[in-house]
Amino acid sequence: MFDLKSLVKAHALASGFDLVGITGADDFASDREAALEHIRQGQMDGLPWYTESRVMRGTSPTELLPGARSIICLGLSYWRDDDREQHETEPTGFAESSVGNGRVARYAWVRDYHRVMKRRMRDLVRALERELSSEVAARWYVDDGPMLDRAAANRAGIGWFGKNSNILNPQFGSWVFLGQIITDLELDPDTPLRKSCGGCTRCIDDCPTGAIVAPYVVDNSRCISYLTIENRGAIPRELRPLIQDWVFGCDICQDVCPVNRKARQPAQPVRFAGAVSSHGPVGQMDLVELLRMSEDEFRQRFAGTSIMRAKWEGMLRNACVVLGNTADDNAVAVLSVALETSEPLVRGHAAWALGRIGGDQATAVLVKAATYETDAGVLEEIKLALEESAGR
Ligand code: SF4
Ligand code: SF4
Repeated sequence: MFDLKSLVKAHALASGFDLVGITGADDFASDREAALEHIRQGQMDGLPWYTESRVMRGTSPTELLPGARSIICLGLSYWRDDDREQHETEPTGFAESSVGNGRVARYAWVRDYHRVMKRRMRDLVRALERELSSEVAARWYVDDGPMLDRAAANRAGIGWFGKNSNILNPQFGSWVFLGQIITDLELDPDTPLRKSCGGCTRCIDDCPTGAIVAPYVVDNSRCISYLTIENRGAIPRELRPLIQDWVFGCDICQDVCPVNRKARQPAQPVRFAGAVSSHGPVGQMDLVELLRMSEDEFRQRFAGTSIMRAKWEGMLRNACVVLGNTADDNAVAVLSVALETSEPLVRGHAAWALGRIGGDQATAVLVKAATYETDAGVLEEIKLALEESAGR
């Protein structure tokens, strides 16, 4: 007997996905209520695009695709061990500096996943159309669309909700990009996994900023991922030291997760983005090189990577915070260059970092900057930095 579901799953795996599950196109009623409650509680503050109307649309598949019958939920593992020698990379020829590196969240080590996922999803739909000799009505989403990707993955049996709010899969852990194809194909749904985190609380205990305010609830305004990527303004002063050396995102609550410790290598690993880890350990970004980049150089270097999401001024801001946290005297020279960039956001964080480093050289740079700086916010950062430096 012709088995459409098996055909879909076979083609999904052949298209390069590691995981595939099916769920129906009925509304995500309870996930909708939970998402709306997060908005009301202010936990999504700072993400202006994450609105109640977006949640309403994203939890109603038939509104996204009239006539929808099923959702094909897909997962692509981005786990790569960080042994550079084992993997093909794209060399960039940048020289390594002696001051410091910042850590980059694992998902950004590879090329922008939106492109990779969407290309594979399109290939999958085309392959199904060829097999069925008819057009397949379909809309596909990665996490830039309104669909609640984790809710869909959970209902389709791809994984369970971890207490850090990620979807955990028994084979690939949470190192998985999620995508969904809403379609008019009638497919037999899978059942959700009967698994949970049990009594484990590692992610909650080890989150450096206390962002996991309750099991399954992450307060974005405290999360390093949000603060270093989506946040367009200053990083709150009290949170800057807690960011440690994360220059883009944070993997701590995934690194400590026991499910992730057993994560498998994917069959077809996504290639490393050479622009992100140009030299030295994979997943580490040279902060001096970053701080010396013009906006144009930044765009050229990071085009096609997830780093673009944080924007040039955001990445320079983050680099200043990490250099302040490493408190290395050798960073004074590059921070004094950052104190002269066109962006007050960067100048303010460079001043903070110099205050953390302290010493005669950093103090002299701050005193001089106070004589010509005109932005009130930056002047306040310089004043506070001088106080901090004097107190050391
Ligand atoms: Fe905490 Fe980092 Fe996880 Fe955010 S990503 S919840 S800061 S451990
Ligand atoms: Fe669940 Fe423990 Fe992993 Fe957190 S660290 S997601 S509680 S298994």
